[in-house]
Amino acid sequence: MKENQKNAMSLRPPIVVVLGHVDHGKTTLLDSIRKTSVAIKEAGGITQSIGASQVKTLDGKTITFIDTPGHAAFSSMRARGAKIADIAILVVAADDGMKPQTKEALEYILAEDMPFIVAATKIDLQTASPETVVTQLEKEGVSFEGRGGSTPLVKVSGKTGQGVDELLEIINLLAELHEIKGDPEGPMDALVIETARGKSGLSVSLVVKNGTLKVGDEVVTENAYGRVKGLFDYLGKSVNKVEPGEPSQILGFTESPEIGSKIWVKNQKEALPAILTHHQLQQVTDNDKIMILIKAKNAGALEAVITHIPPEFYCISSGVGEITETDIFLAKSANANIYAFESKASSGILKLAKTEGVKVETFTIIYKLFEKLQEEIVKRQIEVLGRAQILNFFPFNNKKVAGCKVIDGKITKDDKVTLTRNEKSLGTARMSSMKKGRQDVAQVIQGEEFGVILAPQLEFKVGDVLLSVREKKIDL
Ligand code: GDP
Repeated sequence: MKENQKNAMSLRPPIVVVLGHVDHGKTTLLDSIRKTSVAIKEAGGITQSIGASQVKTLDGKTITFIDTPGHAAFSSMRARGAKIADIAILVVAADDGMKPQTKEALEYILAEDMPFIVAATKIDLQTASPETVVTQLEKEGVSFEGRGGSTPLVKVSGKTGQGVDELLEIINLLAELHEIKGDPEGPMDALVIETARGKSGLSVSLVVKNGTLKVGDEVVTENAYGRVKGLFDYLGKSVNKVEPGEPSQILGFTESPEIGSKIWVKNQKEALPAILTHHQLQQVTDNDKIMILIKAKNAGALEAVITHIPPEFYCISSGVGEITETDIFLAKSANANIYAFESKASSGILKLAKTEGVKVETFTIIYKLFEKLQEEIVKRQIEVLGRAQILNFFPFNNKKVAGCKVIDGKITKDDKVTLTRNEKSLGTARMSSMKKGRQDVAQVIQGEEFGVILAPQLEFKVGDVLLSVREKKIDL
């Protein structure tokens, strides 16, 4: 089976993101890249962007580009810890050099350990100095090819098209080198890149990294649900399925998923993450869940926490980076605690949390965080006031009376009881009648025998144990 799975993995189009400072030529470069595409030419251009597009290179290979429409969208993906792209192009205008957003983008690329290419743009300008770009980036830890490192530098002009073919070639080389693969039969791995409301309703753009998305599939994200009614490729053409490495726009979400969120397909083959089965699909909104907000230093850390949250919790929001004011207010509104793993909170934020009455806990060791979650569960668990064993039963007015003996504690008629067998809960009931002999009683204590009628009746057997429970109210 494992062998089959291995074989099913094959090279797929790499997903590439273009990052860099505003006005450094990202859009112009992407336009210039698209101009090389035969498919786009044949289609008469792209009339409406779905947030990503594909280009076929001269050697017949396909590359998928994310059209990050500005820094804000990228930041929101980054904040959600989404690692959408396989390869990044760090655009630096050769006439302007490194700027704050260049640095920010570089930090993200390095933190995510993403293969990347530096594109020194606007090379057609007389003032262009790619050497300055190299020196500046080297100071930030970039190690260029031919200078003792492996990061390629390509000099390009989005205006004249110079260097664009070379850039595409290098992307393909990197994709091969890093063996960017996907399995159409494998589990779904897709990410939301854009959402829009149009004439045909809500449309959601995504890229599929693994698995195949088909018309009719039920899809879920952490906060949204839908059934795929329509699938369109980047040229707006209707398709039946989307395979690894392909971008697509889908119709059928009933609510808007967040940019950067992961999409799962609900099918028999693949188990959905606990967080979804517990919280999203069953539409569980019961108040029994413990509300939490999770922050982590990076996407990997966040995923490690999120995927292991016990089902007793409902994660109202999660993100990468420091705890922010928004987190505090969000947590306050949901009466949630904030758990941060390797992510910091400034003293100002901690002060705000205190005044707003929001509990913030930070951890540097992941199992300590889970230990804390377990503690929270225990703290909120029900309190067992007494236990009684069912010794026999007899019919009474079409009902069953359970003859019991209190093993320990006390059982009070007004409290709820939980029926247990081998310490497993079989259900909860109230007691519509409680008698000692023929006499109605309100309470029985250890050693006493009594008879009860349960409502609902529950399927009890001799030997089962009734627990008298009361929800523990501990101020956390
Ligand atoms: P973005 O904000 O990074 O997407 O930058 P744009 O692609 O919008 O470009 C910003 C400005 O630089 C525009 O006026 C472009 O025409 C210009 N520009 C972009 N690329 C080049 C280039 O390669 N050469 C020259 N001369 N100008 C460019």
